[in-house]
Amino acid sequence: MKNRLISIIIPSYNESNNIEIIYDAITNECLDIDYNFEILFINDGSTDNTLNLIKKLESTNANVKYISFTRNFGKEVALLAGFQHVSGEAVIVMDADLQHPCNLIKPFIHGYEEGYHQVIAQRNRKGENRLRACFSSIYYGLVNKIVDVEIKNGVGDFRLLSRKAVEALLLLNEGNRFSKGLFSWIGLSQKTIYYDNISRKNGKSKWSISMLFNYGIDGIISFNNRPLRICFYSGAFILFLSLLYIFINLFFIITNGITEPGYFTIMSAVLFLGGIQLLCLGVIGEYIGRIYYETKHRPHYLIQETNISTGENYEHTQPRIYKIHHRGHH
Ligand code: UDP
Ligand code: MG
Repeated sequence: MKNRLISIIIPSYNESNNIEIIYDAITNECLDIDYNFEILFINDGSTDNTLNLIKKLESTNANVKYISFTRNFGKEVALLAGFQHVSGEAVIVMDADLQHPCNLIKPFIHGYEEGYHQVIAQRNRKGENRLRACFSSIYYGLVNKIVDVEIKNGVGDFRLLSRKAVEALLLLNEGNRFSKGLFSWIGLSQKTIYYDNISRKNGKSKWSISMLFNYGIDGIISFNNRPLRICFYSGAFILFLSLLYIFINLFFIITNGITEPGYFTIMSAVLFLGGIQLLCLGVIGEYIGRIYYETKHRPHYLIQETNISTGENYEHTQPRIYKIHHRGHH
């Protein structure tokens, strides 16, 4: 008799080609495991047939759970909803697109049984676009110099978390969620498992170049105010240089008189300082933007429908009307 439960969270955004395949793959993989499984699909505002396919699975399999958002809220928020609603003693997070191989589930559980709170899958970048792989490694090198937590290249959300780790994540209530950093921030004992990169099977990645850039900035800014510091110091340094320049010139002017109109020097000083100022304003603006979003205290997401009875704990994030209003429709 299996009486222990492991939950699998799958954020899904327009994954109609993958839902059934991933479900079958997971069930096959889990046949001979000593745990019960629940699979929680988070339908993140898909515009294709994803929700219907999930519901079809749900109607014949009691271990399929789903939460469907009112619109697309993003993967990070989908994960948050997942963590809030799973009940397993350990939780596995994986993508719907089959890039996260199911045969890691057993090693995950093995690591969990050894007592690790996080069992982390780390991929190499085999078969990935050279340029992208190169940018990634430069980026991770840079980020790890700046932020307080360690963020490894090739480590994503694909991992197993113990109940304790999940509870810890739920304590981090920020709206602007940079999961990679949060997983690292909570600490706890960790084991890493390595695997080969797999390219996406069906559908296409939801990441555009500009989204990757924005994600990169989030990664740097979400964790501390060091970029603000950098602004401050570089500003102070530039100010010092320009004061030096002014005094030296003043000295020359006093001793020699004005020899040149000085157009070039003035222009370059103005442009240079203008650039620095804009840069600093931008960084300050970023932080103020964060403050702005956090102070609104909006719910992180809204649920359109679900087959889970949502607990009292998270009632504050979910106004009742949204759950009840739509429930009658299926
Ligand atoms: N995803 C999501 N909401 C989004 C974008 C993506 O839930 O707004 C899901 C998507 O369905 C997939 C996972 O997050 O299961 C990873 O997305 P994707 O494959 O596009 O990212 P990549 O693997 O390229 O990093
Ligand atoms: Mg993918």
